[in-house]
Amino acid sequence: MNNNKESNVSNDINYNICGFKSGLEELGISLSDKQMKQFIVYYELLIEWNSFMNLTAITDFDQVIKKHFLDSLSLVKAYDLSKGIKVIDIGTGAGFPGIPLKIAFPHLEVTLLDSLNKRVKFLNEVKERLAITNLETLHGRAEDFAKPEKFREKYDLCVSRAVANLSTLSELCLPYVKIGGRFISYKSEKIKEESIAAKKAIGILGGEVEKQVEFTFSDEELYRNLFVIKKIKSTPKKYPRKAGLPGKEPL
Ligand code: SAM
Repeated sequence: MNNNKESNVSNDINYNICGFKSGLEELGISLSDKQMKQFIVYYELLIEWNSFMNLTAITDFDQVIKKHFLDSLSLVKAYDLSKGIKVIDIGTGAGFPGIPLKIAFPHLEVTLLDSLNKRVKFLNEVKERLAITNLETLHGRAEDFAKPEKFREKYDLCVSRAVANLSTLSELCLPYVKIGGRFISYKSEKIKEESIAAKKAIGILGGEVEKQVEFTFSDEELYRNLFVIKKIKSTPKKYPRKAGLPGKEPL
């Protein structure tokens, strides 16, 4: 992997981080050596734990950099992350996009939520090994955590990638967002029909479509459509409905 270009070393392995650096440059993000090292340790933990549990189908270093790390960070194209806001990542899986965002923007107060306990155990290990503070992990269904006062309408920003269609996701995510806050869904090209189908749900749940931000990295390998919904009024108490229903019967 090392071809004498700029590299970073962890556990005696050299990683070529040139692709990562140029991707970061395109996003206008600069990382310290400590943050770069955190990303590499995160990569190594991902590969190690992936050997005995299902975390990701992507394992090649350059591909993980692009399709997980840089993709997660592409959020900066749609939202200003310079302030110390509260962020929740719904259905975070192995930590995407929440962990890359927390590493690159350590002042964020991040909560990672997933219904699969073994993935939450992995996230706790990452948190400990990277010595990350102000990072909360929650094991359970998004439908259930959205009910208690402690979590309801408490976040400036809710993000989610590869979890459900936009109608279902709006019911899972908008209850967490403060009025005036945003829910941003990481989507692909095929958003048009999905967004039309979700229009009613977004309105019922107190949201309003604000914008869509499309972004392609210069090598054209990665395209992202960030769908931004603004919370304009409180979500009615009956939402989200009981666990499973938002997926089975989208609003
Ligand atoms: N966001 C990550 C990513 O982009 O790599 C993981 C995507 S994975 C396809 C979907 C994740 O959402 C799984 O880890 C699953 O356990 C979680 N999930 C699905 N429905 C959920 C729900 N209702 N509440 C909490 N987590 C959920």
